[in-house]
Amino acid sequence: MRSPIPILLSLTWLYQASATSVQQVARCALLAARFPDATLPQDNSTSSPYYTERTSFWSWTEWLEPTCVFLPNSTQQVSEAVIIFTDYDCPFAIRGGGHSAIRGAANIDDGIMVNMKRIRDLDFSPDNKTITIGMGYTWAEVYEIVEPLGYMVPGGRFAGVGTGLALGAGVSYFANERGLTIDNVVNHRVVLANGTVMEANEHTNNDLHWALRGGSNNFGVVTHITLPAIPHQGMHGGRVTYPPNTVDALTNLTYEYQVRTSVEAPDTHVLSTYVYDGESNVTYGFTPVVYQRNATQMPPSLQPWLDIEHSNSTVRNRTYGDLARELVAGFPNGLVQTHYSLTVYPSLEYFRFLRERFSEFCAGFSHIEGFAGLHTLMAITPAAIAKAGRNNPIGLNRARPDTTLTVLYLGLQFNNEEDIDEVFPDWDIFIRTMEAEAKLQDVLFPYIMLTYSDDNQEVIASYGEENVSRLQAIQQKYDPSLVFQRLVTGGQKIPLR
Ligand SMILES: Cc1cc2nc3c(=O)[nH]c(=O)nc-3n(C[C@H](O)[C@H](O)[C@H](O)COP(=O)(O)OP(=O)(O)OC[C@H]3O[C@@H](n4cnc5c(N)ncnc54)[C@H](O)[C@@H]3O)c2cc1C
Repeated sequence: MRSPIPILLSLTWLYQASATSVQQVARCALLAARFPDATLPQDNSTSSPYYTERTSFWSWTEWLEPTCVFLPNSTQQVSEAVIIFTDYDCPFAIRGGGHSAIRGAANIDDGIMVNMKRIRDLDFSPDNKTITIGMGYTWAEVYEIVEPLGYMVPGGRFAGVGTGLALGAGVSYFANERGLTIDNVVNHRVVLANGTVMEANEHTNNDLHWALRGGSNNFGVVTHITLPAIPHQGMHGGRVTYPPNTVDALTNLTYEYQVRTSVEAPDTHVLSTYVYDGESNVTYGFTPVVYQRNATQMPPSLQPWLDIEHSNSTVRNRTYGDLARELVAGFPNGLVQTHYSLTVYPSLEYFRFLRERFSEFCAGFSHIEGFAGLHTLMAITPAAIAKAGRNNPIGLNRARPDTTLTVLYLGLQFNNEEDIDEVFPDWDIFIRTMEAEAKLQDVLFPYIMLTYSDDNQEVIASYGEENVSRLQAIQQKYDPSLVFQRLVTGGQKIPLR
């Protein structure tokens, strides 16, 4: 039975009705009556906690105006809130670390933003083999807890990135050997649309567990995930900055890393990155290089990355948490960001083509304040593809045998939203051209990584028809009234039947 909406709304809530619909204000009042310490009403003074929450996103594109912000601190609170949302057909968004640039993925206009950041408990299993993590952490925070204890988990590489990564894909430092983060999650605790709390793992609710390995916010609010505790005594790594004259050599090395080194030396990780800097109108290399051993120097397999001329290197014996914080320096929150992803079979010709065209494209926008373009190439090794197999819905098992796949991230950033209308239409044409060229060169693999995707990319359809049908059936089973389609509309959604 529906709980009664309080007859008397506070003045704050009534006042708010001018900026947002009366229904949503009423839902927020209901939530505030039940959870007064966890509900922030709309208040756009820049010093208000509400304003901080609504603007605490990596990209300006996510600065929306929720009717209120809800900050649950337990699975129980999430469950009670979801029952209210479902009963009253109240639109809501689920925010993890706020690093998607897709408008509405984790924030909402005229609805409730559920921010997971107070769900912060972290527990080792009695045998120290796994760690259960509340979804409110960012990855750097997790590393700073577990590394001093001699462990790591396969999460994101940059500080600030949140656990939404573990429901979409997840390329970690351990990906060559251990596969994507989604394939390492051994248990999901998830609140379904009717408020039921489910554990989903290999033995219990196995279909839901499978679906959440790439199904993002389509099935419920995940409150905890369990990951393997990887014994770890330290690592040797850092970011190497390469001048513009080295980019050809870097592309050769990147190709070599994709097809050989990542496979033969899986305890390494290279995130090949090129940055176009609008101010100086050049493209240079800016690449994290990591050896996962407590070593004082790089192994021979990674030495070529240090042999190429470079202007700066922060490579040293250090922690992952420390590196994660270093890598975000220079990536402030709140700029206009857009990103796009495609997957290819490694090809030196295509890697060169992409780098050259991307620099040319970016040069056309060097007059725009704060303009930068960034593209990265990430290896999914045959071992990682095998681990994915049929254990998740993303369909990597369609790849040719014994190959690495390269996931490409293409991103732009600039300072002012006024420039969006100039940049985005051309960007759209550019990325379609890159995709078409990959197809013409017969290197395109039809998988779009959710965590790096743009909102006009059909990510879940890219998992393949069979997997989409299975996801639809699982959604029907666990969410028969399609609450997570109808009310959680942001991000990448399962195509409707
Ligand atoms: C600077 C930067 C560095 C990055 N580094 C990496 C990296 O090293 N490896 C990598 O794989 N990716 C990386 N990414 C991509 C990153 O994985 C995605 O942006 C991912 O979506 C971030 O998750 P989040 O929780 O921070 O984002 P959010 O924007 O908060 O969430 C993303 C999506 O997940 C959903 N979601 C979040 N939490 C939950 C939950 N508890 N239950 C249900 N749904 C939920 C949200 O509704 C949203 O649709 C990086 C991105 C940036 C901007």
